[in-house]
Amino acid sequence: MITFDRVTKRYGSTEAVRELSLEVPSGEIVMFVGPSGCGKTTSLKMISRLIEPTSGTIHIDDTDTASVDINELRRSIGYVIQQVGLFPHYTVAENVATVPRLAGWDKPRIAARVDELLDLVGLPAADYARRLPAELSGGERQRVGVARALGVNPNILLMDEPFGAIDPIARERLQNELLRLQQVVRKTIVFVTHDIDEAIRLGDRVALFSRGGTLEQYATPAQLLARPASSFVADFLGEGRMVRRLSLIKVRDIELAGLDGERSPAERVDADVTLRDALDAVLRARDGRVLVVEGGTTLGVVDADTIRRASQ
Ligand code: ADP
Repeated sequence: MITFDRVTKRYGSTEAVRELSLEVPSGEIVMFVGPSGCGKTTSLKMISRLIEPTSGTIHIDDTDTASVDINELRRSIGYVIQQVGLFPHYTVAENVATVPRLAGWDKPRIAARVDELLDLVGLPAADYARRLPAELSGGERQRVGVARALGVNPNILLMDEPFGAIDPIARERLQNELLRLQQVVRKTIVFVTHDIDEAIRLGDRVALFSRGGTLEQYATPAQLLARPASSFVADFLGEGRMVRRLSLIKVRDIELAGLDGERSPAERVDADVTLRDALDAVLRARDGRVLVVEGGTTLGVVDADTIRRASQ
């Protein structure tokens, strides 16, 4: 778990981050989202002390990061950035080997790890290991960046707009791959984006910032969509495709789950309500499931995941 406790970062008179308190649970993906200049990157970089806070503390589990040797701290955290920062004259394998080599691993162990990591990100070593970064697509380079960040198996992965420069189709593929990868590796991931749809698609939780590094809302995607905490949040969400779809699509038009022998949910909504109203009902329901009815007929069951998928 990563714990921010009243963390502030000032540059002269500019407050980049203001009194940020927030917990990132282990094994979850937490998205930092908001308009440009709202302190997302600064907050992210303070975790690995690439930037030092002006005041406040950041703990990783029970350890104050300020008390840890900075090199050791950085080695325990993987870092993926937008332009990847691959070494252009190194092959893919040499790039991925960077961190294990710095950590002093022997050659056979490094070679085995590089093969394993390339497999993990869908770039088989036989095809890719000896290529140079210039011989890869943007999406492939980004995968190499992820493989490199996972080098010595850090518990934490920091990702700063990693898919920002990638075309929408490849980007969606990379997002899906990250979710698949997370099923396998279960890292604690903090991911910076300015794209609210990306935040909702990928996040277990979303931290939405406004200017001056103010945390406007920290919630699950379902809570954020159904119950924005302020007009700032509502406006920011309104720029995303998902929110528009939530208020346009009727719950009868999406694929519902069957009852599958499970107990029928106590809450119900009419098939004619929008996904947004259905989501609100899901959040109110004790078990997070709601029955969809039309006239006297049950059409199926809906939950937050079903709605999130349908609104993408
Ligand atoms: P974001 O990642 O949300 O776009 P940043 O965290 O990069 O925002 O920046 C937050 C604020 O801090 C901005 O107003 C930015 O101009 C300011 N800032 C960032 N880095 C510096 C710096 N090294 N010196 C002065 N101001 C900075």
